[in-house]
Amino acid sequence: MAGMVDAARRDLTATLAATLRRIERDHLYRTRRTLETPAGPRVVVEGRECLSFCSNDYLGLASHGEVVAAFQRGAARYGAGSSASHLICGHSAAHHALEEELADFLGRERALLFSTGYMANLGVVSVLCGRGDTVLEDRLNHASLLDAATLSRARLRRYAHGDARDLESRLAALSGEGRVLVVSDGVFSMDGDLAPLPQLADAAARHGGWMMVDDAHGVGVVGPNGAGTLERFGLDESRVPVLMGTLGKAFGVFGAFVAGSGVLIESLIQLARSYIYTTALPPAVAEAARASLRLIREEGWRRERLHALVRRFREGAAGLNLPLLESDTPIQPLLVEEPQRALHLAAALLERNILVSAIRPPTVPAGGARLRVTLSSAHSEADLDLLLDALGELV
Ligand SMILES: *Cc1c(COP(=O)(O)O)cnc(C)c1O
Repeated sequence: MAGMVDAARRDLTATLAATLRRIERDHLYRTRRTLETPAGPRVVVEGRECLSFCSNDYLGLASHGEVVAAFQRGAARYGAGSSASHLICGHSAAHHALEEELADFLGRERALLFSTGYMANLGVVSVLCGRGDTVLEDRLNHASLLDAATLSRARLRRYAHGDARDLESRLAALSGEGRVLVVSDGVFSMDGDLAPLPQLADAAARHGGWMMVDDAHGVGVVGPNGAGTLERFGLDESRVPVLMGTLGKAFGVFGAFVAGSGVLIESLIQLARSYIYTTALPPAVAEAARASLRLIREEGWRRERLHALVRRFREGAAGLNLPLLESDTPIQPLLVEEPQRALHLAAALLERNILVSAIRPPTVPAGGARLRVTLSSAHSEADLDLLLDALGELV
């Protein structure tokens, strides 16, 4: 009898192997490259020294001496791990200080640390919405926001990318029952463009919806003081009550936060399962992020330099007629459409010791494969010229 049951079920290995073959056939197979050096413009990848244009370390803080030293001092003082979740006994003075400093930086009453941006998004959306409610999201929102809506059990509706009119008409069509949450990336992670946040926030407000912005690629980079896309547009807590950001990109460290009113943060502490049921970040990580935040606040020249490099890259690319998407952030995608072509271009660049990632579906929509070039204030003008020369020859 046991044999009959086994035969009726498909073999696990055979089933998975068929899926892997399909992924490979569609040129969507993903592989990891092993780095042997710290994050920075120059990295050693499997023995090959490369110029890297794919990290999110926009301000060159991931291997900055002060950030690394703060990490080391934090480990010496607090040990390697936090030993428990925040609500048991894992919440240290380092976490607490970072939360207060983030709230001050962002002009919000309080901030709350999460282990990752993915978990922050799952936690917040599930606290704000549930069965019978509606979450409206931009079509190109980060995967973690789409997953967050699914996990919350609310209805998920996706509006056209960056289109406040489409959002408005979808809001107008809602029945009027249940809560409504509008969620957008501040800077779109694979496109580099900014969401039209004032228009989205106005549309949300007109229909009694709440507005949440995921500013993973905005905080540290966008806005006169680097406080992100909300600072750039002059949007305060009354218009965007929920702000999420990460510490793994411009901060160069790891982790994430939500900033907002005391009532919002206290609600997350009580209710967000991805906050409650997980080990707190190592306190040393929080100490490193505090050092990054100091540099973000005090060294505005990093942002200025980054934006000058972005302008230089775009001018050079325009001279070569490269198919760059419209973006004035350090995310500068080159649209190549077909996954196979994106892979070939990335491989040809690697032959020239230039590391750029090929982004393919399902990370981007079908037909939207691209080379995602990212710039950092740690790049030199000569680095950009090398990339432009190579792209000019290949594309
Ligand atoms: C990277 C990213 C996240 C996830 O943050 P992690 O800390 O890496 O989990 C969420 N949202 C956006 C828009 C991102 O780019």
